[in-house]
Amino acid sequence: MINYDRGIRGDAERLVARRFTLAYVLAVALIALLSAISHGVLDIVISQQRDSANVITVAGHQRMLSQRIALLSSDLSAGDKSAREPLTDAINLMERSQNALIHGGDLDIVGPPSEDAYALYFQGDDPLDPAVRQFLAQARLIAHPERGQDVALALRHVRLSARDTLPPLLDNAVTVFAAQANDRITWLQRAQRVILTVLFATLAAEAILIFRPLVLRLGGYISGLTELATRDSLTGLYNRRYFLEIAQQMLLMSRRGTSPTAVLALDLDNFKRINDTLGHRAGDAALRRFSEIVRSTVRRSDLIGRMGGEEFAIVLSGVDRHAARIVAEKLRRSFEADKPKDSPPFTASIGVVLAGETDTISDLLNHADAAVYLAKQNGRNRVEFYTHGTEARRAPQNRDASEPDAAPGKSVNV
Ligand code: GH3
Ligand code: MG
Ligand code: MG
Repeated sequence: MINYDRGIRGDAERLVARRFTLAYVLAVALIALLSAISHGVLDIVISQQRDSANVITVAGHQRMLSQRIALLSSDLSAGDKSAREPLTDAINLMERSQNALIHGGDLDIVGPPSEDAYALYFQGDDPLDPAVRQFLAQARLIAHPERGQDVALALRHVRLSARDTLPPLLDNAVTVFAAQANDRITWLQRAQRVILTVLFATLAAEAILIFRPLVLRLGGYISGLTELATRDSLTGLYNRRYFLEIAQQMLLMSRRGTSPTAVLALDLDNFKRINDTLGHRAGDAALRRFSEIVRSTVRRSDLIGRMGGEEFAIVLSGVDRHAARIVAEKLRRSFEADKPKDSPPFTASIGVVLAGETDTISDLLNHADAAVYLAKQNGRNRVEFYTHGTEARRAPQNRDASEPDAAPGKSVNV
């Protein structure tokens, strides 16, 4: 037989699983993308830092080179020929640095400077680039004099420039480059903060929108599965397997605390007749009604299980022989007195056994069953206690419901 319900539920589960997986993959992809962007921004910050540091170093170096050129020019003019070569080198280096600062692409300087820096070099009352070029031209003249040129005038120009004109201009350039580097880094830091915020928001959204529902759903499945594994679907009572597991633990605990325990086995009387005459649905309704009565009669701490068909068992803890009798009788009378509207009336036979020192739960259930059989034999709708030898009177499982009843509705103290 095809189980359509399971098929539809399976499709729905698959759809939900697909949706969760998709959302999870998208969230992880977004996190990966944002992490990559954050990493990229950090990379840019680092390379810009390096670039800015190079620019500032080269710009700062220009000041030192101007001083060196002035010094070597003085030495050469004073007749020290050995100053020519280092002077030429210094002039070339200062020129190369100047070109790199303006155009980029050399001395580890990547690109041209910002508009502000560019303006400092070429605009205003005292532009830096013409001043540097002029200084270098005069210094070159001292290094390689040509006929008819006034070396003394050139030397004066070089000295004055190196002392008064160039230092403030070159210092200014360093300040502009540093400010420009600062601006860039502040902007990149802000961008990175935004990316990190989005990253954390995505993580939080993932936790709230994906993981939490997923965990709740899993929790639901687990409790559903636990219900399925432990409870009987018709009555909602514990099933045989779970009942046995818990009952054994209760026995051990009550033995440790030396509190008495009673086990009751209950079997509906002539239940086949209810099924046969009123139908299976009516039988089911009677079983549910029976369960409700049991549940509302015994204490919450007592354990009730459906052992199969119309057979039930109860473990009453902290109950001696007298109290067990009272509970069993109360149950029997409640079944008997119940006149439900939506299920047929029924009675039950109840077997009771008191737990001994070494009894296992299966011993106790066997003994309680034997007492049930005795109750059936003695007329049904009765409570019987198990005593040694009760088993001997137990008949084969297929008991005949039509055997003569002996004084039904009585409790017999065996
Ligand atoms: P007795 O008084 O000797 O116990 O007679 P009985 O007819 O109750 O005994 P028996 O154990 O022979 O019959 C139990 C019947 O319970 C047989 C079966 O059809 C019915 N039964 C078992 N499980 C269910 C169930 O889940 N729903 C319904 N409606 N009937 C069930
Ligand atoms: Mg039965
Ligand atoms: Mg029965």
